[in-house]
Amino acid sequence: LMQLSVPLNFIGFVYREIRQGLTDIEQMFELLEVEAEVNDRPDAKPLALNATGTQKGAIAFKDVRFSYDPERPILKGISFEVPAGKTVAIVGPSGAGKSTISRLLYRFYDIQDGSITIDGQDVRDVTQRSLRAAIGMVPQDTVLFNDTVAYNIRYGRPNAGDAEVQKAAEIAQIDTFIKQLPDGYETRVGERGLKLSGGEKQRVAIARTILKAPPILILDEATSALDTTTEHEIQSALDKVSENRTTLVIAHRLSTVIGADEIIVLRAGEIAERGTHAGLLAEGGLYASMWNRQREATQAEEHLRQVRESD
Ligand code: ATP
Repeated sequence: LMQLSVPLNFIGFVYREIRQGLTDIEQMFELLEVEAEVNDRPDAKPLALNATGTQKGAIAFKDVRFSYDPERPILKGISFEVPAGKTVAIVGPSGAGKSTISRLLYRFYDIQDGSITIDGQDVRDVTQRSLRAAIGMVPQDTVLFNDTVAYNIRYGRPNAGDAEVQKAAEIAQIDTFIKQLPDGYETRVGERGLKLSGGEKQRVAIARTILKAPPILILDEATSALDTTTEHEIQSALDKVSENRTTLVIAHRLSTVIGADEIIVLRAGEIAERGTHAGLLAEGGLYASMWNRQREATQAEEHLRQVRESD
């Protein structure tokens, strides 16, 4: 019985958190997946964001070392900054540790050495609730609730009115699609409703984040290949949502990082190169070779598609 009561209590806890209407979807997953990895310090204070004009939330990683298990270091001393309102993209080969960086900023795990600060405050010294309220995460794979489209978007800010929900959907470039659905915004989606494509789900997540309007954004781009049109639509939605926000992009495709203020190339847990798109291409190193390879792959895919369509 003891064994059973713990998870039941835990589910009860999650349920109460959701009922309070304060919990973010990210927090819910965090609770379910990595329960008790990290705890608030007894003296934890809410994160205080300094405004530099209208922009807030400067991020700094200083010599960050992290491993999921002691024998296998994942990040081996990473330092970079995202100035308030700017965009930094992390790129690099699969398994380099890109998504791990986003998980650490969100404090899913604590680091073993170094520091991660937001406006000078160590993420370990502030309450998790305030930290997560300041960060909007557009994850790789969005899980939708078995409820209406409107509900799924409004989750970003439960007291938002219909007009605000629709405005967010417009900015996320999903409004036209929603209006074509059988019941418009009242159409039920999710596992037991209408199934949306990966790109559509991601745009619902973007609309949700636009409503939440967090000062800091983490965009963990989907690994799955999207067709070029969808990719352009999502890119322009993401550009809008990241405007004037401190943004960390975890990029699995390079086409999305061209406009970033700084690109960090991660390889096996270390920063191999850093700079702007043009600067890195000129350097002719790892980034340049990744770029050329990806461009060739995209051209080959487009060519195949055209051949198939003309058949
Ligand atoms: P990709 O582009 O393929 O998504 P990535 O650069 O985002 O890769 P991470 O997801 O940060 O890579 O993972 C870095 C390394 O850490 C990988 O080798 C992965 O196997 C390992 N790893 C990730 N999550 C865990 C975990 N929860 N426990 C143990 N190891 C993990």
